[in-house]
Amino acid sequence: MDIKSRNIYTVTTTLAFIILIACPIASRGAKWTYSGPDGEPNWRTNYPYCGGTFQSPIDIQTQLLRYDPQLSPIQVQNYNLSANEQLTLHNNGHSVKISLPSHMYISSLPNRYSAAQLHFHWGSSSLLTGSEHTVNGKQFAAEMHVVHFNSDKFPNISMAVDKKDGLAVLGVLIEIGEFNPCFDKFLKYIEGIKYKDQKIQVPAFNVRELLPDTLNEYYRYDGSLTTPPCFPSVLWTVFRKPVTISHEQFLALATSLYASSAEDSAPVPLYGNYRMPQQTDNRVVLVSFRDGLHGIFSVSSPFERRQVVQKLLAGDLADLADEGLYQLLPKPQPGLNSKLKTTKRWGLHNQANKVHVRKNLPRHGYKDLCFKTLENDVLHQIQRHNANAQMVEALRDVVFPELNLRSYLDCKSELDLQTIRQLVQGRSTDEAAELEQSLTKAMRRQMRRHRHPNPKAITGHPRATFLKDFSLSSANHKPQHVEWED
Ligand SMILES: [Zn+2]
Repeated sequence: MDIKSRNIYTVTTTLAFIILIACPIASRGAKWTYSGPDGEPNWRTNYPYCGGTFQSPIDIQTQLLRYDPQLSPIQVQNYNLSANEQLTLHNNGHSVKISLPSHMYISSLPNRYSAAQLHFHWGSSSLLTGSEHTVNGKQFAAEMHVVHFNSDKFPNISMAVDKKDGLAVLGVLIEIGEFNPCFDKFLKYIEGIKYKDQKIQVPAFNVRELLPDTLNEYYRYDGSLTTPPCFPSVLWTVFRKPVTISHEQFLALATSLYASSAEDSAPVPLYGNYRMPQQTDNRVVLVSFRDGLHGIFSVSSPFERRQVVQKLLAGDLADLADEGLYQLLPKPQPGLNSKLKTTKRWGLHNQANKVHVRKNLPRHGYKDLCFKTLENDVLHQIQRHNANAQMVEALRDVVFPELNLRSYLDCKSELDLQTIRQLVQGRSTDEAAELEQSLTKAMRRQMRRHRHPNPKAITGHPRATFLKDFSLSSANHKPQHVEWED
């Protein structure tokens, strides 16, 4: 092959490759369902984040829980809407959705999160189990999600949906029991939106009454949209206490609607619209309560966590490998008394260390995350490996360390081996290798002792290569339009 034809060959194959790998991303808005060929196991084909990391829902298991005394009761504002206001009730083919005005908001988080919509996930008339989050394996009849976006940082939900700190969702577990008058405020109109894409206007009502009586007991973790495109942009709050609806009310939800349009010759009933629990990926679940939980650990302090990261970046790695291993391993946390002291310390050291550590974090560590930009990094990785089949794995490899580090510093994850590898990149390979060997050995020992529930925490991600070059420039790839439903 001469130089000219080789160049043409290179350009042609590169173009073909770019088209091949860009297509799944360009097909945002592609059809997805809860069953059949476009069902959950295949979401990742068109929506790679669905096969990625930090996904929701999860099974909220007791061993994942860490008590955080700083979690104050959830406060919502302007939820008591006037009946003069109108809300749109919408069958989008995946759920029943109620639009919410942005003057409703959550006021108890570090930023203001304004409401956008609420929707439901439910089981079927024969299987009264359709919640997305489960608690120690128990699935509830249904679940409500009240979706909010960070209105301090973003003008609307479309801009927020793929950003770090973009969304906050309140999850309410629903069980069958007493009749719930508030649910009837919209259920009585449900026959008007039987088919996909049908919408009607309904009088507004007090949305606060859809939530549990008290908002002080909840689970908190970092997760994702539970529907495509599955961006890991959601701060989840799942209330501990379920609300009840009557069996008749549940049946109205589970049997009235179709996932197909009115003009479709073969109507498809809309039920079982829930996603299965996802891997926990070294995440922990913070809880605002301890009643009824025996021997629950408290979360360790942000100060200690920043010190660990600082050591990995600039400290003596041999020291960490010899004596500091305990700081990196998943471990029991202090009990109540030492916890109170720890909390005091957080306040004293927090600010000073925050600045210091952040200054030293690598270029790709703890920056403002935009998942579309990370997707470009993924494309670049794939081009390097020259195999588009590795899309999802490459996505995990690029996104996971960033999310894990952010979540670790926010006290919502344990530090993963893959993240440690990234933090020590650029340091002496001998020292880094020694640290990794010690860690792997120690984690295996710990696994044998405690029969660790998450083997991923021990082995890291097998596809990750040691000291991989993460400092990649973004591929020259135009961001695609993102459609997003719920
Ligand atoms: Zn949902």
